[in-house]
Order: sequence, then structure tokens, then C-alpha cells
Amino acid sequence: MDKNIQEVMLTEAQIQSRIAEMGEILSEEYRDKNPVVIGVLKGVVVFYADMIRKITVPCQMEFMQISSYEGTESSGSVVVKQDIAVDIKGRHVLILEDIFDTGNSLSFVHAHLMAKEPASLKICTLLDKPERRKPGVTLQADYVGFTIPNEFVVGYGLDYNEYYRNLPYIGIMKPEAYT
Ligand code: 5GP
Ligand code: MG
Repeated sequence: MDKNIQEVMLTEAQIQSRIAEMGEILSEEYRDKNPVVIGVLKGVVVFYADMIRKITVPCQMEFMQISSYEGTESSGSVVVKQDIAVDIKGRHVLILEDIFDTGNSLSFVHAHLMAKEPASLKICTLLDKPERRKPGVTLQADYVGFTIPNEFVVGYGLDYNEYYRNLPYIGIMKPEAYT
């Protein structure tokens, strides 16, 4: 285990097994719908790569990048750094995210994509931290990998100052590692 990790919250095996379960559900849901699966960079990359390979029906891959988060605290303001490159009007769209925290990012992404008039728009997030949701956010995820307690986690795509994304598990950092 990495020396700056205090505790593993979700092991590689737990994550992979949950992704396999979700893959069956999503493959059933999107059969004959030719979905566009949109990943929100960069946190989602590791989850996206594993999840997409468990979706066994034809689909297209797209990515967008937003900017909203600095250090461990959300700034609250979101901007599009890179938009998707295809027209999703009339298409079935599935958003993949790493974590649903305050809800700022997903609320923004959801509204941004709804404006492009997809036939349907659903959200699949690997992690959900409902305790952190900002009051007023009514948006809900359609598919959740794991509901987790209010802890700042890293690994499996999730970073602290751009590091730890390459850990194969999700863990909690030692408090002294923040300094
Ligand atoms: P929200 O806009 O829901 O507050 O935050 C979503 C984004 O904040 C995530 O996509 C992720 O980049 C970042 N974030 C939220 N919670 C955590 C966490 O526990 N660990 C890490 N590494 N990033 C987080
Ligand atoms: Mg993210």
C-alpha cells in the first residue's frame, strides 16, 4: 500500500465486481439504444476504461472536461474546458462520473448536456457521497457504484493535487500527507 494511504476503503476486487454487476444492468438498459457514453475528465478515466468494457452493446465514447475543484475543497464555480465533439440531439446519453459530491459538477454537466436535447440523459457514478450534497441540489444519480461516508478519497482516478490517480484501489489519505 502507498505510504500516504491510511486505509483502503474499496479494494480493486470490490470495485471490479461492482463494475461487472453494473455492466449487466447498463447493457440491458441500453440494448438497441446506441448510446453515447460521456466521461467527465479527468477523474473518471480509470472507471471509464473498466466500465465501458462491461457495456456489451454498441455505444460511442465521448469526453468532456470541466474545471471546478481545487485541492480538497470545491470552489463552486464550474467552466467547460473541453466540450464533447459529437451532436447528441435525439441520442440516448449516459454520463459517467467518478464521484457525486456536493453536486456542483454533475448539476452543471447535466444542464449543459440537457441543453443539447438528447433523447434521454442518465447518470452513472462510481461513488456517491450524499452527506456532502449542497442544499438545493435535487439531481440524483441513476446508477451508483458505492455510497460512501464523508471522507476525502483518492485512487482509481481520484486525485489529491493530481497525484494518486494511478492507485488501483480507493483509499483514505493520512492527515499528515495533506501538508
Ligand atoms: P462536486 O461538484 O460533486 O462537489 O464534486 C465533484 C468533483 O469533485 C469530482 O468529480 C472530483 O473531481 C472532486 N471530488 C469530490 N469529492 C472528492 C473526493 O473525496 N476525493 C477526490 N479526490 N476528489 C473529489
Ligand atoms: Mg470528476
